[in-house]
Amino acid sequence: MRAGFPEFRLGNVLAMSFTGTLSERRGNAVERIPTPHRLVDWLVVNGLAVDSCTTAQLDLARELRESIHATATAAAIQDPLPASALRVINDRSAQGRAAAVLTPEGKRRWQLGSASCVEDALGVIAADAISIIAGERDGRLALCASPTCRAAFFDTSQSRTRKWCDMNTCGNRQKKARFTANRRKTPGSAE
Ligand SMILES: [Zn+2]
Repeated sequence: MRAGFPEFRLGNVLAMSFTGTLSERRGNAVERIPTPHRLVDWLVVNGLAVDSCTTAQLDLARELRESIHATATAAAIQDPLPASALRVINDRSAQGRAAAVLTPEGKRRWQLGSASCVEDALGVIAADAISIIAGERDGRLALCASPTCRAAFFDTSQSRTRKWCDMNTCGNRQKKARFTANRRKTPGSAE
């Protein structure tokens, strides 16, 4: 992929991987889709290849991302869903023209409209967010326990007790912090 840009965090829940393209929202935020090209890269990785992307379309994508984040956060803490964010999600869902198609291997693939435009891809992401927030999918919406993150994520673990949006980043950092704190409490403890 392109060098010099923050890496993507990959997950298996499309809408939540999308909100994860902005991480550390409560700390030093990391924008993982800083340019239109980078959004194209992200869409390719997630099976939504588009022909091109303009700055205006990137703005549209980020608006959808923050709307999903706000709505999923409200749903996770059982707050009323924010009306303006809902409108954005619904508009994007209504305006995308993509079809689910079945491959000979029995896999579901998204076929974007004839122009393969960003709006079609955003429609798929918006619909994915709707199915999660509406509670149609097997899992639980939760907020990351890291105070600098607080990302909304979809917990599909058996016990539904996942605490972090991402084990490799937030989970690891938290574990390391606890380890250091414990060592401070017991001076002289071996490495
Ligand atoms: Zn997190």
